[in-house]
Amino acid sequence: MIVFPMLAYVNGHFVPRDEARVSVYDHGYLYGDGIYETMRAYGGNIFLLNRHLSRLKLSADAISLTLPLPLEKIGSALIESLTVNKLREAYIRIQISRGPGEIGLDPALCPAPTMVILVKPFKDYPAELYENGVAVAVVKTRRNHPLAQDPAIKSTNFLNNILAKIESLKAGAYEGIMLNWKGYVAEGTISNIFTVKKGVLHTPHLDTGILEGITRDLVLLLAKRSKVRVQESLMRTSDLYRADECFITNTTLEVMPVTSVDGNQVGSGIPGPVTKKLINAYRNEVQRHV
Ligand code: PMP
Repeated sequence: MIVFPMLAYVNGHFVPRDEARVSVYDHGYLYGDGIYETMRAYGGNIFLLNRHLSRLKLSADAISLTLPLPLEKIGSALIESLTVNKLREAYIRIQISRGPGEIGLDPALCPAPTMVILVKPFKDYPAELYENGVAVAVVKTRRNHPLAQDPAIKSTNFLNNILAKIESLKAGAYEGIMLNWKGYVAEGTISNIFTVKKGVLHTPHLDTGILEGITRDLVLLLAKRSKVRVQESLMRTSDLYRADECFITNTTLEVMPVTSVDGNQVGSGIPGPVTKKLINAYRNEVQRHV
């Protein structure tokens, strides 16, 4: 097998991944001052690329960061990252940080943002996770208050999620579910959450203070198309415990069934019919696009 090093994109240049460097004065490193997107490519096509680019722009605007390139050029750099690495099934991460500058919080200290694109071959999640479902734990760490650091911003400042992840790992769970400042179910550390109760699909309303997941939006659309009733609302932990079905979503996981919440079995303990329908609808939608 020929192993060749992945090339990372750093400010317009492709360099072998182990030689990719950014300054220790980069405010992304010093303060977590930056934004990112994670994407997945199927058959050489970045799924929902334009949605990811639009969200990147929203995040940039929300932190008063001027993107280093127009969105079309950022899209081209993402596609080029796949082609130079000869990847068809891939995980892609773009990160734009405030850039190097003197120590201090003022963004004006950083004249040029740093743009990095990292790719790697996509490694399929074990099929048994989709067949049996995963366990999640509701963690004590609360999701950031939207008036403090809005979860709608896809920020590289990830300590909130990492604290939640540490708790969920200690609980032996696959994903940690955070509540919002009022105690309503918000989202996972890297995912959005859904339940099914009496045939109705429920997910926390955006006003709960969550990231508007691109997978979440597509799943809601696919559910409506499949005539599944959808309700975006405020949800309590007890709604998770009493659900007939539960699943989490994100760009790489797609639709992942959840069969245990805090050690309580969800429904009959196996992925339910609505979850399975949406897993398939999502995969069909991917096939339609690639
Ligand atoms: N919530 C959080 C906190 C996340 O980090 C992610 C992953 N980006 C998601 C939700 C899911 O978003 P998407 O479907 O756009 O991948």
